[in-house]
Amino acid sequence: MTDQTHDHSALLQLRNVSRHFGSFRALDEVSLTVRAGARHAIIGPNGAGKSTLFGLISGTLPVTAGSILLDGQDVTRLPVHRRVGLGVAATFQHSSLFLRESVLENVLLALLRRPGGGLGGLRRVAARPQAIAQAHALLDQVGLPTRHELAAAELSHGERRQLEVAVALATDPRLLLLDEPAAGMSPAETARLTALLAALPGEVTVLLVEHDLDMVFELADTVTVMHLGRHLMTGAPDEVRACAAVQSAYLGTTEVPS
Ligand code: ADP
Ligand code: MG
Repeated sequence: MTDQTHDHSALLQLRNVSRHFGSFRALDEVSLTVRAGARHAIIGPNGAGKSTLFGLISGTLPVTAGSILLDGQDVTRLPVHRRVGLGVAATFQHSSLFLRESVLENVLLALLRRPGGGLGGLRRVAARPQAIAQAHALLDQVGLPTRHELAAAELSHGERRQLEVAVALATDPRLLLLDEPAAGMSPAETARLTALLAALPGEVTVLLVEHDLDMVFELADTVTVMHLGRHLMTGAPDEVRACAAVQSAYLGTTEVPS
């Protein structure tokens, strides 16, 4: 399964990946390399295909064509839980928290590394003091050092996004996919989230979709611009900012509806 032409600095490689919905090409032959350790942002107007791309990478959505390699291994047809096992963790544009469970339980469930594995295993994990300590440490790391007993539903919007990051980190990811983590956040919440992401260890590669360009340019070392299902360009933040095609496709838009 290992690919001979694999670039060893690449953690993730997309090769001519397409996703069609009927005759509509949500993604059209997108190729992209994400370096191990990168802080890589994907930007582009609504409908560019960013969330669809994340679905293909995390495995929630099958590709129509093309291939996806993780560390040189073809994962194109692996189910979500197998990709999680290989270190792919995602927070989605629409929250996937267990709202009636407590903040702490949400992280404990994720420590099981089995999304959709149900609550049956929770008792087993919760019984282990070590798992509980780990969950508290993760909540500290994302800036939620208190309020662990509250139901997730009782958290503010910003706190929920912080909890989602803790849940994603609980699976010990090598690749963390964040789809618009700052959407709906106050400036203070966005600043806190940006600081938390900036402080993640280098072993965690971050692939971020975000409309907040201040956040993008603060965090990212690499920026990809997408437009109408196509890859427009990938480069250093300064190159992307300077590119005229990018400006007309995206950066000229001051207000981006979400
Ligand atoms: P972005 O996240 O960049 O805003 P999306 O990936 O959500 O874009 O969507 C890309 C395009 O694909 C949009 O035009 C959207 O309407 C379409 N699309 C996404 N999911 C579906 C689906 N399940 N069925 C049909 N069209 C879809
Ligand atoms: Mg989206």
